[in-house]
Order: sequence, then C-alpha cells, then structure tokens
Amino acid sequence: MRRKTKEVLVGKIGIGGENPIRIQSMTTSNTRDIPATVEQIIRLADHGCEIVRVTVQGKKEAEACEGIKNTLLKKGYTIPLCADIHFYPPAALIVCDFVDKVRINPGNFADRRALFIYKEYDPYTYAKELEKIEEAFAPLVLKCKAQNKPIRIGANHGSLSDRIMNQYGNTPQGMVASALEYADICRKYDFHAIVFSMKASNPLLMIEAYRKLVEEMQRLSWDYPIHLGVTEAGAEEDGRVKSAVGIGTLLVEGIGDTIRVSLTEDPLEEIEPCKRLVNLWNNYREHNAFSKPRKGSRSKGELFRIEEVPKTATLVTLKTPKVARVREMAKQKENLILLLDTDCPIVAGAECGPLLLDGSIDGIAVDSSQIALGESILQATRHRITKTEFISCPGCGRTLFDLQEVSKKIREKTSHLPGVRIAIMGCIVNGPGEMADADFGYVGSKTGKVDLYIGKQCVEKDIDHLIADERLIALIKQEGKWKDMTISG
Ligand code: SF4
Repeated sequence: MRRKTKEVLVGKIGIGGENPIRIQSMTTSNTRDIPATVEQIIRLADHGCEIVRVTVQGKKEAEACEGIKNTLLKKGYTIPLCADIHFYPPAALIVCDFVDKVRINPGNFADRRALFIYKEYDPYTYAKELEKIEEAFAPLVLKCKAQNKPIRIGANHGSLSDRIMNQYGNTPQGMVASALEYADICRKYDFHAIVFSMKASNPLLMIEAYRKLVEEMQRLSWDYPIHLGVTEAGAEEDGRVKSAVGIGTLLVEGIGDTIRVSLTEDPLEEIEPCKRLVNLWNNYREHNAFSKPRKGSRSKGELFRIEEVPKTATLVTLKTPKVARVREMAKQKENLILLLDTDCPIVAGAECGPLLLDGSIDGIAVDSSQIALGESILQATRHRITKTEFISCPGCGRTLFDLQEVSKKIREKTSHLPGVRIAIMGCIVNGPGEMADADFGYVGSKTGKVDLYIGKQCVEKDIDHLIADERLIALIKQEGKWKDMTISG
C-alpha cells in the first residue's frame, strides 16, 4: 500500500494525498539573471517539470524572484517556484512573498556550518540552541502560515549541525532528529504545510533515513508528504542508477510523494528519468504491487553473463512479475537470478535495487552489452565496487565553475580507481559539508578558483581551475590511491 499522506498545496500543485507523484527540478542559472532563469524554468515546465526550485543565497536573489515570478506569469506559466535557503534566514522572509514554497535545510538554517568538533552539550546549552533555532525559524513559519505557503524541511546527510552530530553522529537518525526539531516548531505554531526530505549521496543511507523518518512519523501519527531524492548522485549512467536505486526502492514500499533525480547535467535531463520513475509507480499502483522489503539477509550481489548463470539458479525477469512478486517467489525458492531485461538505467536501478538490497535475488544476469550497467547497479547497492565513486552536485545559482565540463574531465581521468570516492562540488557554501564521506574533494571557492580536500580537510586553497584537476590527481597519487589506466583493445 502507498503510504497515506495529507495534501500540501504548492501554488496550484498538490503534493501527497491522492495526487500523482510530482516531478521537480532545479535551475542552474544565476538567480539574479532573471531572463536566463526564466528561460530555464520555461524549458523545464514545457518538458513536464511540475515544481521548480531556485537557489536564493541572499537578498538580491530573493528580490530577483519577484521578477522571475512576474515574468513567468506574464508569459502564462504558473509552475510553482520553490526557494532554496541555506545559512541566511532573512532571504527566506523576503522571498516568501514571491515564491510558492520555501525549502530550508535544518542543518544550516539557524546553525553555522558544522566544524566537526566534539563538544559536550549539557541540557541547558542544548535547550538554548533550540531556543535560538525557534527565534530564527518562527518568523518564517508565521509568514508561510499567513500566506498559505508550504515549507520543505530538507535534511541532507553531510550538512547536519554540530549539535546534532555530537548527539547522533552523521547518521540517518541524526538527519531525522534534525528535521524533527524544525517540524516541532512548525507544529507549535499550528503550521502543517510541511514536506520532508532526507537526501544523501549514498542510496543505502538515503533509504535508511527515509525509512526511519516514516517510522518516526507513524509513531507520532503524522502524515506529511515526502520528497525523495539522492543528492550529489553524479551524472550519466552511474548518476541515474544511484537515483533509481534510492528512489525506486522507496517508491515500491509506497513511500514518496514528489521526486527529483539530481544530475550533474542540464536540468532538462532530470525530467525524463523522473517520468520513468513515475511510470513505474503508476504500475505498482495499477497492480496494487507495493511491497515491504523481505526480512532477509543482503544479496550475494553476483553478476553473471546470461550463458554463465548456474543451472541450479532460477532465472526471473521483471517483464511479467513485479518486484512484489519476486519478493513472494523468494520465500519459496532459493537462488533467484534476475535477468536484466532493460537497458534503461532508471528502470534497471529501480527494479534490481530493492531486490538486491533485501536479498530477494542473489544476483543479476546481463548480456555482454550490459556489463557496465550491471556493475553500476552492484556499485550503487554497495555489493561490488568496481569503479571510482563520484559524488558531484547538480549545480545551482551558486556554482563557481563549469560543473558539467569539469566533472566530465575529472571523470575521464580518474574513473579507473575502484573504491576511491571523489567529490566535485560547485561551491564552498554547501560543497564541503555535502561531499559527505568522499576521500578527495574538488570544491569551487571563488570564480575560477578551486579548493582541494583530502577527506574533510582543505589541503590546497584557491588553486587556478586550469590546473586544479592535475593537482587533484597529484593528491590522489600522494595518498597512494592512484593506478595507471589500463588501455584495453
Ligand atoms: S554544492 Fe552545488 S548544488 Fe549545492 S549549493 Fe553549491 S553549487 Fe549549488
């Protein structure tokens, strides 16, 4: 069964309740550049995007949203706008007048960026910090309430406050606790137009965070809708597979009311993957095929060429049975292998992901043209790490370099390092926090300048972007993680 949620209206678009899963994306233009932002929003709306988010880092961007909204309306576009707020509550109060929804990050709305320093919080200090949050957040809650506009409380793994991390660690539980602190303030002021999200770049962590959130909401008898997304998923096939494993696994459990597939590509590229996931969800709904994960152990996560599948195994395809059916079959039969009957990374990730994660299947069978796709799925589900793990942000109005170009170049030079995690992040405001558990980080610090990180430590500051990829490779070598690329052929 799909989880029952209340309807939250964003402009004229309803999220949750009986509404279909809503498709979202985010602009990458400079928000202050009104014509460029309007043009991007129109392209997104024309392709089926239903809600669009723009980054609002300060007052100028907040004020630009008035022009963006008015121009869109003049051109006949009523697509709801959502303002993305980090670190600066005054921008939220200004922009609230011009947009249809505000997204806040509970890790950094009222708290400064985490320093990852251990500190004891006695009950008094903790309570004082909560008071400070309420002081910063309540004016926005009251304004949104007066204007009938919703707030998304969007927690991200990696950008939690020091207070939360000291108590819960950088964990799914911490993400949920962080969001609930803000939800409690909304509820105190009798404000209920809330949407939650719990994003992480690791799909397993993301799935766990959303499941914990749902458990907690059930315990509290709350029915707020949920926005699903895997953040910093990267690009191309790997980015799509990661998003599909995370979002698809939750959709089949009936969790999720709106989605964004976040890719380091033109935002338009995010729409088709979203549509495929929505189709899949429609399929579950039509056949009432929502299913809970099997209580089994993790899959062995094997990858076979079709001709190598052991005779003792049972080969299943998803064309006829759905995920729920395979889960049922797995109760009777041992050693099920799923035949990959699609080349679409979204469909493949969304269908294999849940079955691999709960051990319903032991592995997947592919033909020789699908080996890379099979490897992406097993990497996204953390069964087999056969290539470099890229964590790259989708970019937004804060991005300080040509993110798509740079991340493509870095991927080409470093994609042969299994187990090495490289983050490529567009700005220093959110980048360092949200690159989560990357081994190396490439983060825009100023226009044309880059900071390089080893783990959470910045080791080179303001490097010229023209030489930054070579410096990154030098750091990987220095840390003994480099291997020469083998040329096959
Ligand atoms: S990390 Fe990337 S997506 Fe996030 S705020 Fe910075 S530029 Fe935008």
